[in-house]
Amino acid sequence: MKIGGLQKVTLIDYPGKVACTVFLSGCPFRCPWCYSGELVMPEKIKEHPEITKDYFFEFLEKRKGVVDAVVVCGGEPTINEDLPEFLSKIREKGFLIKIDTNGFNPEMIEKLIKNNLVDYIAMDIKSSLEKYKEATGVDVDIKKIKKSIAIIKESGIEYEFRTTLVPGFHQKEEVEKMAKAIEGANKYFLQNFLPEKTINGHFEEKKPFSSKDLEEFKESANLFVKMCEIR
Ligand code: SF4
Repeated sequence: MKIGGLQKVTLIDYPGKVACTVFLSGCPFRCPWCYSGELVMPEKIKEHPEITKDYFFEFLEKRKGVVDAVVVCGGEPTINEDLPEFLSKIREKGFLIKIDTNGFNPEMIEKLIKNNLVDYIAMDIKSSLEKYKEATGVDVDIKKIKKSIAIIKESGIEYEFRTTLVPGFHQKEEVEKMAKAIEGANKYFLQNFLPEKTINGHFEEKKPFSSKDLEEFKESANLFVKMCEIR
């Protein structure tokens, strides 16, 4: 695994906890509106400075008692075979662990849950199941996405699903289909697209949705899940 970034403190990434966030490089998806090209595109990953594991674990040691939790995101953290070992070391130091995933690797998600290596999972829902290829820019095995959703819903640990809503791609019908795909889920967060640097620069010109649009999307989603909120 390659650590591509470290946010030393965050109050928003782990609900109710003071956390730090570690960013692992590499992702099998190419979502055109992705903000994290330096963690996704191989040529950018190569140029991007790496943080050593030694530095990271020394940092964590010093944060004991100050930070409650570690959020592990990417890129896509579950592509790393050595993720369980990495999380075990975080666990040994007494931190809670949250994983942010795109659901690409259900076997890894299952392994982490079984081995008590994760306390909170946030999974991105990119689009309705039939539009995943368009939303991610690659051929996605949709069975894996469905399996990840099922594993997370049945895990018994805290979880959320979330979607970044992109103007010109998502609309009400799409939001309904996404909410149906996670039907009965405890928490579903919708977040507005922000026109920042994106893998496909064309998206940088998109205007975010209005609050009125977002409220409508939220109402539609709330027909299928226990709680949907705008974040
Ligand atoms: S899954 Fe996330 S990190 Fe990977 S390309 Fe899509 S938005 Fe970027």
